[in-house]
Amino acid sequence: MARILVIEDESSIRDMLVDLLTLMNFQVIDAADGRSGIQLAREFQPDLILCDIAMPDLDGFDVLHRLHQEIDTAAIPFIFLTARVEKSDIRQARLLGADDYLTKPFSPDELLEAITTRLERYSTITQASMNRPLGKSPTQIAQEAELQRAIAQSELVLYYQPQFSLQTEQIVGAEALVRWQHPQRGIIGPAEFIGLAEQSGLIEPLGEWVLRTACQQLSLWHQMGFNRMKVAVNVSSLQLNRTNFCQEIADILAPIKLGHHFVELELTETAILKNVNASAEKLQTLKDLGIQIAVDDFGTGYASLEYLQHLPFDTLKIDRCFVQFLDQNKKNGAIVSALVQMAHNLNLDVISEGVETEGERNFLKHQGCDIAQGYFYSAPLPSFEFEKLLTQKYGL
Ligand code: C2E
Ligand code: CA
Ligand code: CA
Repeated sequence: MARILVIEDESSIRDMLVDLLTLMNFQVIDAADGRSGIQLAREFQPDLILCDIAMPDLDGFDVLHRLHQEIDTAAIPFIFLTARVEKSDIRQARLLGADDYLTKPFSPDELLEAITTRLERYSTITQASMNRPLGKSPTQIAQEAELQRAIAQSELVLYYQPQFSLQTEQIVGAEALVRWQHPQRGIIGPAEFIGLAEQSGLIEPLGEWVLRTACQQLSLWHQMGFNRMKVAVNVSSLQLNRTNFCQEIADILAPIKLGHHFVELELTETAILKNVNASAEKLQTLKDLGIQIAVDDFGTGYASLEYLQHLPFDTLKIDRCFVQFLDQNKKNGAIVSALVQMAHNLNLDVISEGVETEGERNFLKHQGCDIAQGYFYSAPLPSFEFEKLLTQKYGL
């Protein structure tokens, strides 16, 4: 992985560059002024330097000049960032030995182009040409940078949808569902950005944030007295497939005062089946940690009943598409009652999601389904509203 040093005094541009370059799979170090830039160049011997020309104190020319006085840093490709396109600047830059310049504002494509060309010419670790994932447009790269900033600047929020016991009508848990509170566009649903997060690898920090936040929130609710409630957190297949997945989960949970059995991870059957053997091992490790596991969107993938018996699940979550109209649609009704029976034979709890009508709720209750979740009870709620619901219902 090629290492790039960014020297830029304007923090918004510096952050943007760091985000973009990280997404392009470069390893990035950055400096806010010329002096620390020179220091970092000496210490880390980057494969390439991007440096702003106009900086107070030491400007870009000074930085390049000083680096060229040192033999070991002279061979590092150097690209100037300039807001001006004055010919005299460029000539001076070339004379000093700069390899190229980029005029601000530049597009992600121009940036990548300039870097790969320089790296290839210097034939340093030319992994750079492989850094552009196939078919990824500059717009996509920019969207990823935006999502990365959203994660870093905590624009994400969790909503919680209550889960009701069909026997007691009590709230027994909450599913955490992520939202993006975009400064311009308002609340954005996960359907619009989870895919992007998965493609870019941002699902890792996002998933970690979701799990940590949900568990911290539940721990607070436990402290308020709602201490039998569980929280369910969605986990993407990409997270599950990471080698260190279980350790990462354990590390997140370690500092939070919360029994592990109050945490349920929702995994889709498709995610589990991507790599059954590895998944089986990981699920067992999670179980050993006391964490609960639910099969999400059950019925929508290609899961055979065979594997259900052999994997250590606690809960089966029947997908919304089977629940819809199940009191009127005979087929859905038959599927759901068979699923409930089968799950109970395997000692699994059953949750139905997307319950929208009283008819659906009554049918599910009659079939012996354990838990229900859906607009009939409540839409997903911001934490303060969920808390209001709890206090109103239980008067604590
Ligand atoms: P899901 O896991 O199947 O989540 C249930 C979705 O159904 C949620 O949509 C929820 O708001 C919606 N829903 C709940 N009750 C009803 C209902 O009665 N009727 C209808 N029509 N819909 C209902 P949402 O919040 O937009 O989430 C969409 C998907 O995004 C989720 O589907 C889940 O796969 C994914 N997702 C959400 N949060 C996360 C997350 O933190 N991490 C990951 N990896 N995925 C997430
Ligand atoms: Ca789910
Ligand atoms: Ca679903």
